[in-house]
Amino acid sequence: MDTLEEKCHAHHLKVTPQRVAVFKALQSLKKEHPSAEMVYCQVRKNSPHISFDTVNRTLLKFAEIGIVDAIKGVKGPRRFDPVRDGHHHFHCIRCGAVFDFENPEYDEFGLPENIEKKHRVLGKQVVLTGLCSRCLKNKQRIGVKASNKKLNKEKNHEQD
Ligand SMILES: [Zn+2]
Ligand SMILES: [Zn+2]
Repeated sequence: MDTLEEKCHAHHLKVTPQRVAVFKALQSLKKEHPSAEMVYCQVRKNSPHISFDTVNRTLLKFAEIGIVDAIKGVKGPRRFDPVRDGHHHFHCIRCGAVFDFENPEYDEFGLPENIEKKHRVLGKQVVLTGLCSRCLKNKQRIGVKASNKKLNKEKNHEQD
């Protein structure tokens, strides 16, 4: 992975303390696919005077020069992914969480001819959507509660 310095120099950008702070925060939140808000909270721990706007603008700049990928979730705010090499994503449609996964088969499948002819493809990423394990668990819990209620109602009716 390129360092912040290399990327900034290649794009004629100064390596400002704010950019360093946002970069560091991204590294520590790597696994989370953080939103701008999450990065902002992390940056504030060491730089309490930075504004949300500065963090957000820095993240968008980073996306522009290829330090992070800006991924549009199926739900909630845009997420940022500092891990840019070959992995795929699972998006939870309920809580908006984004998980990484690897699958060599996905890396190897061919490109559609009409795309390959017209455009230059630089990356390939598969996005799977669904309910994450945590949301599934919650859903089951809600399901159990609902059916218990129904059962109690039926019991009460029997007593009537
Ligand atoms: Zn979820
Ligand atoms: Zn990712």
